Amino acid sequence: MQDKKALLRSIPKMDELLKNDIFTQLNEEYGSNRVLETSRNVLEELRKSILADEITDFTSETIADSIKSALANSDKINLRKVINATGIVLHTNLGRAVIGEKVAKNVFNTVCGYSNLEYNCEKGERGSRHNHAKKLLTKLCGQEDAMVVNNNAAAIMLALGAMAKNKEVVVSRGELVEIGGSFRVPEIMELSGNILKEVGTTNKTHPEDYENAINENTGALLKVHTSNFKIMGFTENVDLTKLCEIGKKHDLPVIYDLGGGALFNLEQFGIHDEPNITDILKSGVDILTFSGDKLLGGPQAGIIVGKKKYIDLMKKHPLARAVRVDKFTLATLCETLKCYLDPEIAMRDIPTISMLAQTLDDLTVKCQKLISVIGSDIECVIAHDFGQVGGGSVPTQMIESVVCKITDKRVSADKLEKYLRAYETPIVARIAKDNVMLDVRTISESEFPIIADALQSAFKKQER
Ligand SMILES: *Cc1c(COP(=O)(O)O)cnc(C)c1O
Repeated sequence: MQDKKALLRSIPKMDELLKNDIFTQLNEEYGSNRVLETSRNVLEELRKSILADEITDFTSETIADSIKSALANSDKINLRKVINATGIVLHTNLGRAVIGEKVAKNVFNTVCGYSNLEYNCEKGERGSRHNHAKKLLTKLCGQEDAMVVNNNAAAIMLALGAMAKNKEVVVSRGELVEIGGSFRVPEIMELSGNILKEVGTTNKTHPEDYENAINENTGALLKVHTSNFKIMGFTENVDLTKLCEIGKKHDLPVIYDLGGGALFNLEQFGIHDEPNITDILKSGVDILTFSGDKLLGGPQAGIIVGKKKYIDLMKKHPLARAVRVDKFTLATLCETLKCYLDPEIAMRDIPTISMLAQTLDDLTVKCQKLISVIGSDIECVIAHDFGQVGGGSVPTQMIESVVCKITDKRVSADKLEKYLRAYETPIVARIAKDNVMLDVRTISESEFPIIADALQSAFKKQER
């Protein structure tokens, strides 16, 4: 009892405690308000722990350490870096497309100061934020006009709202998809004020189905890329070229929601089936929409390209203001698009493309490096496995990859996977057949030391 009282009395006073040198640095990093609040909490916890007989000794150094880690911990709830060891290149839960350092550096220069976001420097007058990406997009896609909004869901809503309000929009039953949690084509149409006119069946839709559905109240024909599933077996759908013929015949615009879509030829990396944006535009589609952070490898954005008369309608639509993009998005998108002016630069500076471009040989060498950084005291081997493009792209195709398989059984796979996920820099890995697998396709070499530290500390903890 006496000990406990003495211990309580020896808790340093706040102003005494704050004299420790470490606080100069903490104040600088977190601000004195947060440091003070956290220090109070830590001292309060200490008091409680003493009363509960959980702590029998401490020093002002151990208290300062607790405060330091409490502050670091409180930052963990924020958006922060994670290591993706899943091999899913466009992982929607992990932020989809990774932005390259070169791109980010150029963005940094633009946003850490004023910019010509809505200013025309040549004329010295107000400009339009739509013009920056428009120049690059029309050049790369060979289209009349382009516009960028917050995401592809917003793009399709805006297109439908501006082009076919109070009108019927004809769409195949096989394409009435749900993407992610709440993006459902029929619901989007309702919001945009369109009347949904479903044609065909789940597995088959013929040109006559569209022809028969068209009447004087039809506003547009919509095609949706069924990017996150595939119906196998007896299927038939009307291809875009045919649909555009029907549209032209009846003087109706065709809108195509592509979802992903690449500006790069991915066939060369063995990725088939994924529509190429420039090929699609050859069909003569009036409006094409796709995401900025899927195969394009840029920021979250909805990209709209096509005929100027329709994009003009979208720019004037009230929704345009609600879904407009900010300067971060525009700067990042423009820097990403600039890379596409030269395929070699795109391959080097857009991580989504360089990750997909890695051959099995490249990945094997990379995996050997990872294993040597991890060190020989943890048992692991190189193995072949499959990753994915992800992000609702190329749904049926797995991509062959190389993984570092942790075979060391001092820690169970479940425990290890959980430990890695809770690590300072969380590492998201996969378990297969009772082994933790680290797919090197989505890991950058600069992250190897972090992975090695995490594994070392996981196994060390076990020994204690
Ligand atoms: C991913 C996807 C969307 C949604 O795009 P976001 O940019 O995430 O809003 C819409 N349609 C299709 C076909 C998609 O694949």
